[in-house]
Amino acid sequence: MSLAGISRVRTDRLVERAERLFPGGVNSPVRAFRSVGCPPIVLERGAGPYVWDADGHRYVDYIGAWGPAILGHSDASVVEAVTRAAANGFALGATHPLEIELGDAIRAAMPSIARLRFTSSGTEAVMSAIRLARGATGRDLIVKFAGGYHGHIDGLLVEAGSGVATLGLPGSAGVPEATAAQTIVLPYNDPSSVTLAFAEFAGRIAAVIVEPVAANVGVIAPLPDFLEHLRETTRADGALLIFDEVITGFRLGPGGAQAKFGIRPDLTTLGKIIGGGMPIGAYGGRADLMELVAPLGPVYQAGTLSGHPLSMAAGIATLAALMPERYVGLEDASDRLASGLRDAAASAGRMIAVTRAGSLLTVFFRPTPPVDAAEALASDRDAYAQFFGAMLARDILLPPSQFEAWFISMSHGPDELAATVAAAREAFRE
Ligand SMILES: *Cc1c(COP(=O)(O)O)cnc(C)c1O
Repeated sequence: MSLAGISRVRTDRLVERAERLFPGGVNSPVRAFRSVGCPPIVLERGAGPYVWDADGHRYVDYIGAWGPAILGHSDASVVEAVTRAAANGFALGATHPLEIELGDAIRAAMPSIARLRFTSSGTEAVMSAIRLARGATGRDLIVKFAGGYHGHIDGLLVEAGSGVATLGLPGSAGVPEATAAQTIVLPYNDPSSVTLAFAEFAGRIAAVIVEPVAANVGVIAPLPDFLEHLRETTRADGALLIFDEVITGFRLGPGGAQAKFGIRPDLTTLGKIIGGGMPIGAYGGRADLMELVAPLGPVYQAGTLSGHPLSMAAGIATLAALMPERYVGLEDASDRLASGLRDAAASAGRMIAVTRAGSLLTVFFRPTPPVDAAEALASDRDAYAQFFGAMLARDILLPPSQFEAWFISMSHGPDELAATVAAAREAFRE
C-alpha cells in the first residue's frame, strides 16, 4: 500500500517511545494495526467526524472510539457537562446525584432494567453479570457464541471476537483449562445447537450470553427467531439470558437491540455510549436478580471509581442528545454509505459483502454476508488490509481489522460520506 506523501515524523517518534513502554506500543491490542500490516498512527485530537494524528493529518473517522462516539468527537454539550462536573471534584467516594440521573435515563430507555449498577468498564460489567447469574442459579456453565466478544474476562476469552479474532489467537494463554471448561461455545445464529446444548447440560447452564447483533467479528445480524429461541430455551430450563449490549445499547436506538427485536433479557450489560467516551460499564436487569448483589445479597461486586462523576456527566449529556429523530437521520446516512460502498465495489468488479445494523457496518471481503463467525473468519484479510491502507492514504480511517465494525456517528454528514465513497471507489480498484 502507498502511504507516500503522508509525513510521519512526529508519529514515528511517538510510536518508538510507546513501543519501549507498552507491549506492542499500545494499551489495547488492535491499536497496534498489526492485522492490517500498517504502521500504527497516534491520534491526538477529535472533533465531529474527524480525528487528527500527531503530524496534523485529518482523517474521516470510522473507529468512533470503538463505539462510544455516536455524537462524533468532543460534542460541545458533552465537553461542557464534563467541564462543569470536573469543577466539583472527581471521585468523592459516596453516591453522587449524577449517578442517579444517568441510572434513571438508562432505566427509562430499557424497560428490562429495573435495577442496575455502574462499573468502570464493559469487561467488569460482564464479569459481574456472569457472577450474578451463577450466584442466582447455583449453576456454573455459561453458553457463549463463537466470535462473541464480552471483554477480556478469563472464561469468555474462548473463541472470542475483537482483538482475539483479529490476531488469530485461539483464545488466550493464561486462562486455566478448568475455567475455559465452564464455557460452552456454540455457533451464532444456529438455534438447533442451542437446543442440543440444553438437552445435554439440562439444569447446569447458568446463563446464555449473547451480543444480540454480533459486532466484534464484523457485523452479523441475528437471523429471524434466533434471539427468541434463546429467550424460550433459557426460560424453559431456568437459565438466564444476558444481552451484552455494550455496543448495541443506545447504538441501534434508545432501547438497544432488545427494543429493536422485542426480546426481554434477564440481565443486560452496557458500556461505551452510556459513558460518552469516558470509562464506564453497567449491568442491570430484573429486580429480584439485582437484589442479590451486595450489600443486599451474597453476590459481591464493587469499584472504587464506579459511578465516576465525570463518566456520569458525559453519559447524561450524551443520552440527552440522542433524540429519537436523530436515529432516523443516522439510519439514513448509514444506509446511504452502505449502498455507496456496494456500488463502488461493483464498479470495480470486487466481490464483497457489506453488512449493516443501524450505524454499525462491515465491508467483508467475501462474496456473501456471513451468518456466523466461521464464515466471517473466512474473509480475505489481506484484501481488507490493502483496502485499509488505500483508504488511509485517502484520509479515511477505518477500523484496523476486518473484524471490527465501522462506527458511523451522527456528525458524519453528506460531505464525509461522499468523500468515503469516492475514496472507496479508487481503493477497490487498487
Ligand atoms: C467493548 C465490549 C466489551 C468490553 O468493554 P470494555 O469497556 O472494553 O471493557 C464487552 N462486550 C462487548 C460486546 C463489547 O463490544
